[in-house]
Amino acid sequence: MSIGAGAGIAERLSDVQARIEHACGVSGRSPGDVRIVAVTKTHPPGVVRDAVEIGVPDIGENRVQELTAKMDALGTEDASALGVRWHFVGRLQSNKASDVAGRVSLVHSVDRLSLVDALERHAGPGQVQRVLVQVNVGDDPRKGGCPPDRTLDLVAEARSRPALEVIGLMTIPPLPPEDADQEEHARPFFAELRRLRDAASDEWPEVQQLSMGMSGDLGSAVEEGATIVRVGTALLGARRDPPWDPESTWRTDE
Ligand SMILES: *Cc1c(COP(=O)(O)O)cnc(C)c1O
Repeated sequence: MSIGAGAGIAERLSDVQARIEHACGVSGRSPGDVRIVAVTKTHPPGVVRDAVEIGVPDIGENRVQELTAKMDALGTEDASALGVRWHFVGRLQSNKASDVAGRVSLVHSVDRLSLVDALERHAGPGQVQRVLVQVNVGDDPRKGGCPPDRTLDLVAEARSRPALEVIGLMTIPPLPPEDADQEEHARPFFAELRRLRDAASDEWPEVQQLSMGMSGDLGSAVEEGATIVRVGTALLGARRDPPWDPESTWRTDE
């Protein structure tokens, strides 16, 4: 572990856990039912190692190239010794599906039929790729996700594919206005995703997970039922600028 950086993450992890515990207290939930995914985008692979070593084995990336570069940098052996579980949380182009399918523990961002087709094609023989269907609950043109009224159809289609297992839903709420309370601004969108999840799980009990809540709004997300929160800055500090560059190997272990 790079001395200092890991200690910073450990302190911030306590804060994030305290926020989760508080939200669970308010809503009568158990903190053990909320999984933290550390979103390590822009950070070097050494930060992935730090996060796993302090007890956050779920690691999220939002760009395919950065994900695969970090996988390569850590190496399969090192990563499996560490027990890394990779999550892909960003927009996924169908022509990049082969870089992700069968290589990550969970794809959070399935939002259209063409992507269902592409993931199914590339999952690999005998493999089952777990996925979440991403919903654009705020109808925000800048955000990915299928329209809310298409969600159940897309879940039905994806779960009919032998190579895919749909275990829940994911959303990113619209950005709050400048001086809005981020937590309260996001809450109705989280509640909407939970309603969609309830409708889906009534029909298909395996659709349980709710991936919602980031650094600025994970409290209301957990109160509204999040089972997975995706946390970047609150856990790892500000994003790196310039971001980690896989071409500059000297920065790998920074
Ligand atoms: C970057 C990112 C996050 C984490 O964002 P923070 O605000 O830094 O916690 C979560 N989800 C997705 C899809 C992201 O791209």
